[in-house]
Amino acid sequence: MDIAGSIAAVTAALGLVKELREIDAQYDKAEMKLKIAELTEALSDTKQGVADVAQALKEKDEEIDRLKKALQRREITVERRGYRYRQNANGDPVGDPFCPICLEEGNFTLTAPSYEVGKPFKCPRCKANFGRLTSYRYTE
Ligand SMILES: [Zn+2]
Repeated sequence: MDIAGSIAAVTAALGLVKELREIDAQYDKAEMKLKIAELTEALSDTKQGVADVAQALKEKDEEIDRLKKALQRREITVERRGYRYRQNANGDPVGDPFCPICLEEGNFTLTAPSYEVGKPFKCPRCKANFGRLTSYRYTE
């Protein structure tokens, strides 16, 4: 249930409370019991709706967190020949390039040269093969 659904459930519950108030408890016990049953169901729907909204908000917070981290890490990387690298204090690339496929998904996975013929760089996460890439030495 989304926010609109939750609000509709609360509105339905409030409507039932209003109807309950208007029932003459002395004469309409059966009707009162029916309305209380309806109210219980409406409140149960509301509770489920709020729980769904809370879960959706939690997921959005996690996504925002992940994107913030990806953005921060993107700021501390440098691009060379279409690949992103970690950078030293001078802004020069160091080490092996990040996998561009995983980077698109916000995952910073370093590629590494494999032991295959030609030593193609591969991503340990998505297994993509990038062929021969440039590694930069660590310098101050
Ligand atoms: Zn990858």
